[in-house]
Amino acid sequence: MAKEFPYEIKQIAPGIHLINESFSTMFVVQGDTRALIIDCGTGTGDFKSVIESITSLPYDLVATHAHVDHIGGRGQFSDIFISAADAAKIKSVTPAYRRIYAVSNKLTGMNKVPLSSVNFTPVKLEPTVHIIGDGYRFDLGGRVLEVLETPGHTCGSLCLLSKSDGIIFTGDVANEFLFMWMSNCTTVEAVLPTLDRLLSTDGYETVWASHTTEPMTREDIVKCRECVAALSKRKNSVLPFIKMFKQGDSVIIYRATHIH
Ligand SMILES: [Zn+2]
Repeated sequence: MAKEFPYEIKQIAPGIHLINESFSTMFVVQGDTRALIIDCGTGTGDFKSVIESITSLPYDLVATHAHVDHIGGRGQFSDIFISAADAAKIKSVTPAYRRIYAVSNKLTGMNKVPLSSVNFTPVKLEPTVHIIGDGYRFDLGGRVLEVLETPGHTCGSLCLLSKSDGIIFTGDVANEFLFMWMSNCTTVEAVLPTLDRLLSTDGYETVWASHTTEPMTREDIVKCRECVAALSKRKNSVLPFIKMFKQGDSVIIYRATHIH
């Protein structure tokens, strides 16, 4: 029998917790009457029990996007909120894909926990999908999270803004390592309006992206934008090579055919 998966829990603001699953990070945001769970990880352990050790409030689950490390654990939940574009991709994240992802992360050293503790809860039932987009608001009572559509890393990526906390949750759309090589990414240039939108949006100074246990700032989004802009000037290729482009602290992994 698998050992209990060692989730790490860290409070990052009053009523806001980060949960580190080793492969990825998720967030529990509590208001006075409800809570919001941002992403559900790869589904390697009993994530639902971890949430319920943090809050006794009723809660909703929202996915920033439909990648394996963000929706792999959805089988533990009855409902999921997601964009229309990424809802179409949910069922491509199968139990077999989750295992491959966990094992490959182990081989590359990204996964720091023993595979013997990975306990994939099978997806018995697909959760009910609720399509959301720009302007949707999760009202938690005394705390509101606004949804922003931010295509790039996936065509249907979403960010969540809590103005009262000065925090934005950005998923994978503006990371130090921006992955732009998967089939459901936009072109590299299409990330620029998304990053411009984030930089022109008021109401936050702190940026919580996935896959990090430390906060980012607007300056990190500026660096990411500069890197994307520099890469966008390159000519595209007819060959679908996966390449890496580095500028300063920012790195983009991209498919050569996804420029222009
Ligand atoms: Zn992703």
